[in-house]
Amino acid sequence: MTTAIYPGTFDPIHNGHIDIATRAAKLFDHLIVAVYERPGKSILFSVEERLEMARKAFEHYSNISVESYATLTVDFARSKKASVIVRGLRVISDFELEFQMALINKKLAPDIEFLCLMTSQEYAFLSSSIVKEVAALGGCVDSMVPPHVREALQRKFKELGRDKITIISLRD
Ligand code: ADP
Repeated sequence: MTTAIYPGTFDPIHNGHIDIATRAAKLFDHLIVAVYERPGKSILFSVEERLEMARKAFEHYSNISVESYATLTVDFARSKKASVIVRGLRVISDFELEFQMALINKKLAPDIEFLCLMTSQEYAFLSSSIVKEVAALGGCVDSMVPPHVREALQRKFKELGRDKITIISLRD
């Protein structure tokens, strides 16, 4: 049985992530969407919230599960007996970072392969930052996220007050 992990921040999960995960799930027996607990960038949703949104997004996929982790990605992969780390690629600027991460991970864990899937054209512009920015300003995110994520964004921005939102980072 081949297990792969798809690690990321997923703050929040959006249709571009879901597209990568569902395509990757066709290549492996089991795909674990791995929600990184402590990213170095500022985040809007707690790890529990990010987990819940991701779990709901994949509830109808029998070979996709969702877990959080706070260790090195390769250590998490090993603990799950995963032999592949999947990532998504949008633009050239993604490539630089993913390439660097692939090389570092390969050094740390030569037995684990790093696989990048190209974004689908309709999601090439999509990032969690864009979703948060559009939602914070009251724009429509229906084509970007599933309904339960849209509702979570609306709840969060109501709770926080839109004027308190500082947006965030362009690369995510
Ligand atoms: P990270 O902070 O680890 O980059 P993200 O949640 O931003 O976490 O992204 C997780 C993975 O999904 C990354 O490999 C990223 O390049 C990829 N990704 C994000 N958005 C898209 C998209 N629209 N199409 C394809 N891949 C994407």
